[in-house]
This record gives sequence, C-alpha cells and structure tokens, in this order.
Amino acid sequence: MIILDRVTKKYPNGIVAVNNTSLRIEQGEFVYIIGPSGSGKSTLMKLLNREEKLSMGHIQVGKYRVEKIKDKDVPYLRRYVGVVFQDFKLLPNLTVYENVAFALEVTGQANKDIQTRVNQVLSMVDLASKAKQYPKSLSGGEQQRVAIARAIVNRPAILIADEPTGNLDPVTARGIFQLLEKINQSGTTVIMGTHNNQLVDEFKHRVIRIENGVVLSDEYKGDYRG
Ligand code: ADP
Repeated sequence: MIILDRVTKKYPNGIVAVNNTSLRIEQGEFVYIIGPSGSGKSTLMKLLNREEKLSMGHIQVGKYRVEKIKDKDVPYLRRYVGVVFQDFKLLPNLTVYENVAFALEVTGQANKDIQTRVNQVLSMVDLASKAKQYPKSLSGGEQQRVAIARAIVNRPAILIADEPTGNLDPVTARGIFQLLEKINQSGTTVIMGTHNNQLVDEFKHRVIRIENGVVLSDEYKGDYRG
C-alpha cells in the first residue's frame, strides 16, 4: 500500500514539482501516471523510493514511512520498490546475466540461490538465451527487458517504470506493456509514467492525470484523453 498525504516537493531552485498532493494506491494495482512534460510525474515517482526527498507531507510505502527513513535503511526501501527508466541504465561492461545478478549480489545471498533466481527472471522476460551477451548487442526492447528483470529480481512489492517505452517503437512498446501486465498479475504493484496514449487506452488500468504538480483526475479503467 502507498499513501501520499498532502505531499509537496519544492526543488532548491524554487520549482514546486508536486503540490500538496494526496493519493492512495493499494497493493497489486496497476496505475498509469500521465500528464504533459514537466507536470511532476517523475518527481512523484522519485519520492516513492527516496530518490528525491519530500519537502512537506507524509509518504507511506509498505512499512516504510518515507519522510522519516534513515539513510542506512534506504537500500531496504529500494529493494521493496524496483525501478525502470526510459534509458535502461544497464551497466555496459557486464553481461545480461551479470547486470541482473548484480542487484542480488549486494544482498549477500548464496551464489547458487542467485543463479537460480537470475535464470528464473531472465526466462520470465524471455531472455534466457541472451544471458551471456552484453547490452550493446541487444535491441532497445531487449535492453528494457533486462532492466525490468533487474528491477524485479529482488521480488519488489512495487515496480515503478518511468516512461519505459519512450525510446521504443510501437510494436516493441506493446511487448513491454504486456510484460508489465504479466508482472502485475503476479501481485506486484505497477506504477508507470507514460505518454503512450494508444497503449494506455488498450491496456486499461487506473489513470492518474497530473498537471503542475497536482492530480487533475484519477479514474479506474480510464482513457488517456479522459
Ligand atoms: P515530468 O516527469 O512530468 O516531465 P518532472 O517531475 O521531471 O516532470 O519535473 C517537474 C518540474 O520540476 C519541472 O518544472 C522540472 O523542470 C522541475 N525539476 C525536475 N527535476 C528537478 C531538479 N532536480 N531540480 C530542479 N527542478 C527540477
């Protein structure tokens, strides 16, 4: 469960990116965050895993009270909230397998368990056959699937995807929506910032529309245009 209670984020330059916003998202929901560029979508998502600190209000993410969390506990919050970005952010000198395993190695698990889990998620994203390849030898869609595998390898309760299809062609983008839908069906909350109006209208879910840092509308099975 995620609760935002009158949350404001003011950047040091004075821009108020999120303005006194309240929201509640239940475990297992699939939520689109839409709105024009600069409306505060990324900032809202960054507040959830403490990539940015809120200025006012309260945020509860599962058992974590985000505005009170100590720096030493932030890594635990980040395992609870997986993140995927528009530009993949894979490590170029690591193979597909290593990119995904890396996220588990920092948790200190046994090698055998890491191997089992990495192979499991690579199969889930349909990339088992490319485990030994390096990111640059993969298509954009494949790289995004590696990034998604890395984001879910720790079994996060929540997956945030900030414009995950922004760099992909329409057919590949569709595959990414389908994959996120499959992940959601296994119980993971999915929160996705997107401009992909066609796919938002096709894969119907809750649509939260924001503009100037405030929620303009919030509809279950909503449309992109509202
Ligand atoms: P969106 O994801 O909807 O494009 P953002 O959350 O990225 O919107 O940005 C919301 C507003 O906050 C914009 O005016 C943007 O310029 C500003 N902003 C975003 N990040 C920062 C930052 N690190 N420092 C200062 N201003 C920022």
